[in-house]
Amino acid sequence: MASITPIAQTGKAYTYVDHSYDVIVVGAGGAGLRATLGMAEQGFKTACITKVFPTRSHTVAAQGGIAASLQNMTPDSWQWHLYDTVKGSDWLGDVDAMQYMVMEAPKAVYELEHYGVPFSRNEEGKIYQRPFGGHMQNFGAGPPVQRTCAAADRTGHAILHTLYGQSLKNNAEFFIEYFAIDLIMSDDGRCTGVVAWNLDDGTIHRFAAKMVVLATGGYGRAYFSATSAHTCTGDGGGMVARAGLPLQDMEFVQFHPTGIYGSGCLITEGARGEGGYLVNSEGERFMERYAPSAKDLASRDVVSRCMTLEIREGRGVGKNKDHIFLHLDHLDPAVLHERLPGISESAKIFAGVDVTREPIPVLPTVHYNMGGIPTNYWGEVLNADSANPERLIPGLMAVGEAGCASVHGANRLGSNSLIDLVVFGRAAAIRAGQVIDRASPVPALNTAACDKIMDRFDGLRHASGGTPTAVLRDKMQRAMQEDAAVFRTQESLESGCQRLSAIWGEMKDIKVTDRSMIWNSDLVETLELQNLMANAITTVYSAEARKESRGSHAREDYTEGPFGGRDDVNWRKHSLAWVGENGEVKLDYRPVHTDLIADGIDPVKIEPKARVY
Ligand SMILES: Cc1cc2nc3c(=O)[nH]c(=O)nc-3n(C[C@H](O)[C@H](O)[C@H](O)COP(=O)(O)OP(=O)(O)OC[C@H]3O[C@@H](n4cnc5c(N)ncnc54)[C@H](O)[C@@H]3O)c2cc1C
Repeated sequence: MASITPIAQTGKAYTYVDHSYDVIVVGAGGAGLRATLGMAEQGFKTACITKVFPTRSHTVAAQGGIAASLQNMTPDSWQWHLYDTVKGSDWLGDVDAMQYMVMEAPKAVYELEHYGVPFSRNEEGKIYQRPFGGHMQNFGAGPPVQRTCAAADRTGHAILHTLYGQSLKNNAEFFIEYFAIDLIMSDDGRCTGVVAWNLDDGTIHRFAAKMVVLATGGYGRAYFSATSAHTCTGDGGGMVARAGLPLQDMEFVQFHPTGIYGSGCLITEGARGEGGYLVNSEGERFMERYAPSAKDLASRDVVSRCMTLEIREGRGVGKNKDHIFLHLDHLDPAVLHERLPGISESAKIFAGVDVTREPIPVLPTVHYNMGGIPTNYWGEVLNADSANPERLIPGLMAVGEAGCASVHGANRLGSNSLIDLVVFGRAAAIRAGQVIDRASPVPALNTAACDKIMDRFDGLRHASGGTPTAVLRDKMQRAMQEDAAVFRTQESLESGCQRLSAIWGEMKDIKVTDRSMIWNSDLVETLELQNLMANAITTVYSAEARKESRGSHAREDYTEGPFGGRDDVNWRKHSLAWVGENGEVKLDYRPVHTDLIADGIDPVKIEPKARVY
């Protein structure tokens, strides 16, 4: 029932609608829907809140596929998948979480198949699997493995639609086009719900819950050029930071080698998996020089760096010699039509290229955030610091790109995100089944905490400074693009810290023009910018502090040593970053989990060594 109540601090009145649920999931991407489905299947009263229609979540754009060692096309095993994931992470991922993921992966994919995902098929009628970067046979010693299960090049689309249908079938409730503003924390530090704004009618909804699951996706839009949707604004990270909790490993931002030059629209790695290759202005397949065995299928951080080096050394293509060509024109048009129809269309629309005849102009583009909200491998959020590296925050979980379990460490392998979404969305539901007390009442609404949340909201709604949101967002995106890029130096990162701190200060002068409560996109973008800033500032400060090169964090001032600038003695640890109200960033660290959780692999196999492809 709706009530019209003034906020205690300001006396301004908002229309509130109060709810109580066992579980609230924020986000309806692959991770949020898999968690929602799992919760609802167990009979929990479950609501999923999402700022966009569920099937418009960024997961819908996932093209290439989902990794699992099914062995439908080539020999494979979870042990090889584990090795590749550990190596791909540059030995920063948590081994327990990685092992859980690769062992559960086949089960999770068959479950998707049974739920109705229309996977492509091989000649035997089994799920089709393609090669992907960094996925190899025989502990990296063999040729590429075919591990990435695909529904043509529209795998995310297929998964998302299936999971949405299944969630509805299990009576999960959806609050669609509701913008979650902040977590409701209790006075003794538990998460007890979330406040959300119904964009369509302007009402404010206060959800009390026994468990809140954040599945809000990544923050690619902190950068100027990203493959991510405009909605990927790290809202979960912003909420967690405002609750005084840390974010983990934020310095690790993945650049995908093949964003379309100009638009940033993605060309899946599956294009190289199906036989595509990169060339420079001399027509040379340069990846053969840098990664003699994996070549174009080396992992993403490696390929992005090689492309950047080729361009820097004057071998870029085009008028300004500032990009690289991706060739698919040698492939059979029938294969392109069957396996890569989506990217053939994207190349036509965004680059004017017919892939059967011409190469696609491409450039490394921000694609994925390895860092995020720290969790254990059950999705439970950690309120960690160096003294209490495993301390939990009751009532809160995080899954998907918003979370950091950490299965991707310093660099994610392609097709390992979709499997992360479904394995850990499912794990969170299993865990909730164990920890939620069904008999206890839903926590009472902490109205004082809700008032504080509405105070911030109201302040932004009526912000009457001199700088429009779009101007500050542009400044942030350019600073991130220039100073926290594929290659980094002490100088660029110090500059990034200074620029982001200055922009944080300028946020006080923000100007919001639209004061209405209904479809106020000006205010939505301002709330999103605050969230992006929390993610961006922790990214540059964590990066400046990390004095080594590891995975996607490639520092030109740290290149020496047997592991090419990676320093396992001092830096094989997770960064933790807090950001205060005035933009002050505090850093701390916690150890990487190195212990296996099940037998079946010789631990020596996954010990750190040089990372070559
Ligand atoms: C173009 C592209 C192609 C990709 N291809 C692949 C691939 O082939 N294989 C692979 O493994 N990975 C791929 N990835 C990565 C992978 O798709 C993503 O990491 C993954 O889909 C993220 O899923 P998610 O569920 O965490 O979040 P998302 O799918 O981003 O969903 C986030 C959800 O949170 C909701 N939300 C966010 N903030 C709020 C808020 N404040 N209030 C309410 N709701 C909110 C949104 O409405 C949305 O429903 C690709 C990524 C991109 C960008």
